[in-house]
Amino acid sequence: MNTTATPITAIADGLHARGFVGRVLEPSDPDYDGARTGWNAAIDRRPAAVAYATDADDVQAAVAAARAAGLPFTIRAGAHSVSGRSVRDGALCIDLRALNGVVVDPDRAVVRVGGGALLGELDAATQEHGLAVPAGQISHTGVGGLTLGGGVGWLMRRHGLTVDSLEAAEVVLADGRRVRAGEHEHPDLLWALRGGGGDFGVVTEFEFRAHRVGPTILGGMLVYPWEQVRDALRAARELMSGAPDELTAFVTLITAPPEEPFPPELQGGPVAIIAVAWCGDPAEGERVLAPLRAGLSPAVDLVGPMPYVALQSMLDQTAPRGREYYDRMHYLPSVSDGFVDALVAGFERSPSPHSHVMTGWMGGAVDRMAPGDTAFGHRGAHALTWIIGCSGDQPVGPAAEWVRRLWDDTAPFATGGVYVNALNAERSVREAYADDVWQRLVAVKRRYDPDGVFAGNGIR
Ligand SMILES: Cc1cc2nc3c(=O)[nH]c(=O)nc-3n(C[C@H](O)[C@H](O)[C@H](O)COP(=O)(O)OP(=O)(O)OC[C@H]3O[C@@H](n4cnc5c(N)ncnc54)[C@H](O)[C@@H]3O)c2cc1C
Repeated sequence: MNTTATPITAIADGLHARGFVGRVLEPSDPDYDGARTGWNAAIDRRPAAVAYATDADDVQAAVAAARAAGLPFTIRAGAHSVSGRSVRDGALCIDLRALNGVVVDPDRAVVRVGGGALLGELDAATQEHGLAVPAGQISHTGVGGLTLGGGVGWLMRRHGLTVDSLEAAEVVLADGRRVRAGEHEHPDLLWALRGGGGDFGVVTEFEFRAHRVGPTILGGMLVYPWEQVRDALRAARELMSGAPDELTAFVTLITAPPEEPFPPELQGGPVAIIAVAWCGDPAEGERVLAPLRAGLSPAVDLVGPMPYVALQSMLDQTAPRGREYYDRMHYLPSVSDGFVDALVAGFERSPSPHSHVMTGWMGGAVDRMAPGDTAFGHRGAHALTWIIGCSGDQPVGPAAEWVRRLWDDTAPFATGGVYVNALNAERSVREAYADDVWQRLVAVKRRYDPDGVFAGNGIR
């Protein structure tokens, strides 16, 4: 995309008058359509303009200009919000993608990450030093949205959620001030940024504590034919019962695509995939995984030493950008036989080979953080299941119907509540937090954004 020729229009004028130097795309611009769409093509919204901030000064200028013009605005980083809350009809979308620098201090194991960086950019930079920040499982997701909601991923049971490693943040507030939120400065703001879902200001830079991980890790996938789906789910449950924190496992129910590494006889049919990551001593990891391999033979066994960055992008193809998606999730108190039966029966009704369901085990370091220490709402959940509906290049409608029904069928086995980063447009942010956390979030919101100008999530 050409990033130099900015059309001179009303919104662009207002922004540039405040010192904004990045490109501003309004509906008349030929690049506008590409700029308004994100990962989920089901979100078809027409913002007043998209303003590409180049640095924190630009963010400040954009917030000031939008407020002066009475123009609502949204913040966008990786554009992966399933509900599409980073783009709203008639609002200014302030895009942070250019703020993607990652600066690693290997001696202090501290990483400073721009508010618009992607997980792949974070991992590439930290791995050069044998370090990692716990993050999500798809490398094209934004660090921004993922962190502000919590951050569930391969390292969580050993090193916690992404927010558990968040030590400070540089923030542009609703009144235009730039502040640092840290242990000693605005600790209430830092608390809210650690899982409160965003909407408290624009984070131009995150500061994380990093952990020794990789560059090689033991991980990968075991693929089972559909006849073994229940056994695979139970085997993963057995494996995770009392498993060391170094081990994380997710079971994905998916239709095998027509390509390697799936054998021809499985391609096009439903399969169960147990995906594992072990971030400790490899020999010990092999010992921990041995009973899984001994008990149930997979059709394909791809578990072995692999680069950590490969693990972090291993599932990228399950969620390509630009298709229509609809998702729902549950937290689970256990992966019971009743849940397994409802999940398997529900998956068999999937109208599309492009939908999938992931069930993963939490616990470990996630539980060692006291519930009130961060705003993340669901310490103590044993597992989660995430149902992702997609109809390929077709409208998501039938797959969305299927997601709703499967979600209903599995609801009796769930704890209630929802991960704020899995909220779709039909569910309220209120459902993502317990009463006490919600009250604290509302208090922080009133202190830092009393006019509610950051309104994507709905905390007020
Ligand atoms: C394919 C896919 C895979 C995923 N995998 C995981 C996973 O493994 N683990 C997990 O925990 N979650 C996962 N998620 C959920 C993901 O965490 C959320 O969708 C998250 O909102 C994405 O962040 P983003 O920056 O890409 O999205 P955006 O749409 O750009 O942002 C979403 C919202 O976050 C806020 N925001 C983002 N950046 C900033 C910032 N710098 N300052 C202030 N506010 C900001 C804004 O309110 C914005 O509207 C996944 C989502 C998708 C689509």
